[in-house]
Amino acid sequence: MSGHSPRPLTVAVVGATGVVGRMMTTVLVERGFPIGEVRLLASARSAGTTLPFAGRQVEVQEATPEAFDGVDIALFSAGGATSRDLAPQAAARGCTVIDNSSAWRMEPGIPLVVSQVNPDDLRAHEGIIANPNCSTMQLVPPLMALRDAAGLERVVVDTYQAVSGTGGKAIAELETQVRAHVAGMPPEPHVYPHPIAFNALPEIDVFLENGYTKEEWKVVTESRKILHLPDLRVSCTAVRVPVFMSHSEAVHVETREPITPDRARELFAAVPGVVVRDDPAAHVYPLATEAAGSDAIYVGRVRTDLSVPDGRGLALWIVSDNIRKGAATNAVELAELLVERGWVRAASRRPAEALPA
Ligand code: NAP
Repeated sequence: MSGHSPRPLTVAVVGATGVVGRMMTTVLVERGFPIGEVRLLASARSAGTTLPFAGRQVEVQEATPEAFDGVDIALFSAGGATSRDLAPQAAARGCTVIDNSSAWRMEPGIPLVVSQVNPDDLRAHEGIIANPNCSTMQLVPPLMALRDAAGLERVVVDTYQAVSGTGGKAIAELETQVRAHVAGMPPEPHVYPHPIAFNALPEIDVFLENGYTKEEWKVVTESRKILHLPDLRVSCTAVRVPVFMSHSEAVHVETREPITPDRARELFAAVPGVVVRDDPAAHVYPLATEAAGSDAIYVGRVRTDLSVPDGRGLALWIVSDNIRKGAATNAVELAELLVERGWVRAASRRPAEALPA
């Protein structure tokens, strides 16, 4: 990162023992975030264990309100209930929270930010900033390019989501079921309602009264908020597939003005963090296996959607590592932006005894 304040910050990672939390600590170190002190926080179950951080072992502490005293920035990734409970208490102690759960994303007044799409929205934060859902995260940078060049009328997204988006237990469940299959044993579902190995489950998060799942509805509402298009017509079907890392998305976009696939590829390639991989004749297109471990959002299979009149339709395939850009990397990028722009809250050194009751 460049241009940030030289003052080393006190940074907390909440949910540090989880899949996303571990990646957050990795990305903080990889990108040279200016950390003076790190606090790795998790549930009481993990308190006293240690985790590696920048070549040393750091003891995990229980995430209590007092653990945020003196913390400048906290990256939360410990589920919605923990965020609902602790994020306001951390913010009341002067900490700036970047929350990875869905608890605060649609709350009016809380910025919901993808680093290369709406960074200026960070300015209005009052202590809590929301990191979007992983499926939304990889969708909106390419959509931003189309919005700006041709206008957006309608977006239909079908997702193919990796089990790592559910957490460590789901990664283990897929592996166990694959091994059971090879051994001629029946798969035993625990995390998901059905076997995930060799299957595709059109159920991610809970079902809502409108017939969508909550995951699908997150893509609808979060995309509108991030793109500043409250009336954008969006629909989504979210599917869990037996893939360990990276979400894939088939996206159909109806634009206001005609747009060619060549122009769209140029526009996508100009978005920071977006990489076009699109040479179907050579079997080149984005793949979950190749995106895993990368911070980029890969776009390919860009073609005219022939079901839309007047050349106003595009179909594309978007793939990204759901734990990196889809969660940890964007959160760290938001922290970097806050530092670079001087938007980390000044009250961060406020003593705990001065807090409101
Ligand atoms: P995970 O591997 O199951 O890890 C969960 C983490 O939360 C662990 O560190 C756990 O600590 C901690 N935790 C649980 N209950 C806690 C409590 N009461 N107090 C403090 N810490 C607690 O899950 P994950 O995949 O890392 O996901 C974590 C969160 O990130 C979830 O909210 C998930 O929805 C979200 N997520 C968001 C995206 C995204 O959309 N951008 C992507 C993936 C995940 P212990 O080890 O002590 O239990």
